[in-house]
Amino acid sequence: MSDLDVIYLADRDNPDKVVAHACKTCRFVRCNEADADRCCRCKECGTLLPMPHDRRRRIGFCSQECEKAECTRRDLEWNKKQAEARAKRPRVHWEEVKSPVSNDGDNYFESIDEFVDDYLDQLESPEDFSLQPIATTCKVVPAHLDVGDALENAFERGEYHEGAYWSHEDELEAFVAEWNKKQTSSTWWANNDLIDWTGYPWLDHCPADCESWAPLRAEIERQLAEEARKEAQGVASGTPS
Ligand SMILES: [Zn+2]
Ligand SMILES: [Zn+2]
Repeated sequence: MSDLDVIYLADRDNPDKVVAHACKTCRFVRCNEADADRCCRCKECGTLLPMPHDRRRRIGFCSQECEKAECTRRDLEWNKKQAEARAKRPRVHWEEVKSPVSNDGDNYFESIDEFVDDYLDQLESPEDFSLQPIATTCKVVPAHLDVGDALENAFERGEYHEGAYWSHEDELEAFVAEWNKKQTSSTWWANNDLIDWTGYPWLDHCPADCESWAPLRAEIERQLAEEARKEAQGVASGTPS
């Protein structure tokens, strides 16, 4: 019927009418012809996988190379999507940023950060030199106990009759208000406005694999050279640093 790895399930009374598609290898019924054909093939190269393999695992790989290739491709796609999402978010220029800065949730940056540290160590770069990352501004929320919530929760957790109520709430509120002021911890939430690190375009151009760091390397060296140039100028013109 076809070259596909598919069993065509037909209507008994209308043998020409295909009503479902199953994988020829594991015989599971799949959503459609394409899914049934893909079911027991290597996700990367399409090679038919031999039975038996783990039936619960819908799509496997024929080799470690294929699994790795698929992972890399997925990483690249993810990075591309992230870059597109970043491009759409509102931008502020880094000189205008007064709030703390966050790179939370950006694993890609974290891996680069580690690399940058290692690389700067190799270069014996100045101690305080650091690359400016792609990051967002933050909103800082100090640790804060909400008295209303706390009292309500206390009722919910204990066994009280419906009509039970607290009295002298204002006393507790006044106390907790003072107590909240003494809290030193805080939580940071990333805002969606992206900091525009003009002059630092490298992040979008670095692939996730560690062999292709050339653009980042070049950018670090450029920034280091810039720092050195500024310092030399300062010395030459006698500007105190
Ligand atoms: Zn299958
Ligand atoms: Zn394969």
